[in-house]
Amino acid sequence: MSVDYSVHMGPFIKCKADQMITRERDIIACGNKKCQDFQGRIQIYDAKKNFCPSCGSPLENQVVEYEDDKIEANELQEGILKNALYETSGDIFGEHDNDQHIWVANKKREGFRTFGGDPRHDEMYLEIQELDTEKELEGFKRAFESEIQILKNEYGPDNVEVVWGIFNTAS
Ligand SMILES: [Zn+2]
Repeated sequence: MSVDYSVHMGPFIKCKADQMITRERDIIACGNKKCQDFQGRIQIYDAKKNFCPSCGSPLENQVVEYEDDKIEANELQEGILKNALYETSGDIFGEHDNDQHIWVANKKREGFRTFGGDPRHDEMYLEIQELDTEKELEGFKRAFESEIQILKNEYGPDNVEVVWGIFNTAS
C-alpha cells in the first residue's frame, strides 16, 4: 500500500455533496415474507444455495432499494467532465467525513502556474507578496467556465463555490 500526498496552493472548487438518492440493486434472498431473511435483511450471498438457511424456503431474485450518495465523483470526472477537473477527496477531505467534494484543475491551461503537486517529488515556490489571488480566481473561473457550470447542474447552483486556498491531502 502506498500513500499519495499532494499540496495545493491556488483556486479550487468546493462542492457540498450531501445529496442522497435511492438506488436499486439485485440480490438473491429468501422468498418467504415472514422469514427474517426476506428482502435480504440477512443477505444470502452464496448463489449456489437454493434454499434459505433460516426457514428452508426457496431463494429468489429480488430487487431492494438503498440510499446512496447522489453524486459519484469518479463517474462525473471521467464522464461529463472529461478529466478536465480532478476530485481530490483524500483522508483529510474524505467525502464521507464532511460531505464535501474538492475539485482542482487537472489540465494545464494557458497562463496558469501549476497549483499543486506531490511534496516528495515536485517543487513549489511562491512568494506571497507576488501573489494575486483575485487574478488567479478570475482566470480559473474563465478557464473552467463550462466545467463549473456542469458542477452547478449536478450539485445544485448553491452548493458550488470557487475559492482560493492551500491544503494538503494524504490518501
Ligand atoms: Zn427464509
